Amino acid sequence: MAEPLFQRLVIIGIGLIGGSIARGLRARGGAAGRIVICDANAAHLARAQELGLGDEYIADPAQAVRGADAVILCAPVGAFAGLGQAIGPHLKPGAILSDVGSTKQSVIRDLAPHLPAGVHFIPAHPLAGTEFSGPDAGLADLFAGRWCLLTPPNGADEAAVERIEALWQALGARTARMTPEHHDRVIAIVSHLPHLIAFTICGTADDLADETRAEVLQFAASGFRDFTRIAASDPVMWRDIFINNKEALLEMFQRFSEDAQSMARAVRWNDTAYIEDRINRSRRIRKNLIDIKQA
Ligand code: NAP
Repeated sequence: MAEPLFQRLVIIGIGLIGGSIARGLRARGGAAGRIVICDANAAHLARAQELGLGDEYIADPAQAVRGADAVILCAPVGAFAGLGQAIGPHLKPGAILSDVGSTKQSVIRDLAPHLPAGVHFIPAHPLAGTEFSGPDAGLADLFAGRWCLLTPPNGADEAAVERIEALWQALGARTARMTPEHHDRVIAIVSHLPHLIAFTICGTADDLADETRAEVLQFAASGFRDFTRIAASDPVMWRDIFINNKEALLEMFQRFSEDAQSMARAVRWNDTAYIEDRINRSRRIRKNLIDIKQA
């Protein structure tokens, strides 16, 4: 049998994403010799063990990473600075540290200072997820056919980057490389802003007078229902994402509010051509997504 990509792979944070990596590696086989699972939440660690997601279960991150050739951080991005400080001194030379965090400049800012020379730091972000969280939420096929974006620092070891690409490809994902700055701007518009809008619209509906609020729930049409699905996502994870991608998110929000104002103005002045043009543009975007199998 071929050598596994990694002899000892540690997953820190065994929720939706960490649990999906563990399940995917088990189901597809071959990429990891031993899977070590670590989580700050004792109940989640115990549940991961019940589900048989790994080979070892260790609560202390410093102990978990000893002897590892790859460590993937799958906790909320707000926990990364503390985790970097805890594990940095215990990573062996030649080990690869990677992550799945949804923001990339903040992850590099928070982790890089804690890493000893000889450790390869290859940040990554899989573009896949659901509104569920915790170890039961993971899916073996979550990443199949989806993109995983890598943001290796300048001068990163090419072999280490290729091993992380191979890991994601073993999970069924397609990989692409970009700078962390570019990643944060692209993801601000395709993911972070839509979540901000979804959380806001649910709040607006909830602020309505009592009898209207009841009707919002009773007669929820598909538009509102779709927003509530997005808005059901984990509060800690999203709090951390918003705070750690502040600049790009606020820039995209500014552009969005200007465009929304233009649409509202078109509605006020019965500018049917503008309204139709905007809707047609949106339909083309949806069709393109379907054509490239990302819908
Ligand atoms: P999740 O289901 O909530 O899992 C995160 C796990 O990490 C939980 O068990 C959590 O425990 C644990 N944890 C929190 N702080 C920790 C620490 N300091 N050390 C060790 N474990 C810790 O979240 P997720 O959806 O998998 O997201 C994990 C990461 O993936 C985030 O960085 C997120 O930005 C990224 N991501 C998420 C998605 C998505 O759609 N969900 C997609 C792509 C990337 P508690 O629950 O007790 O806090």
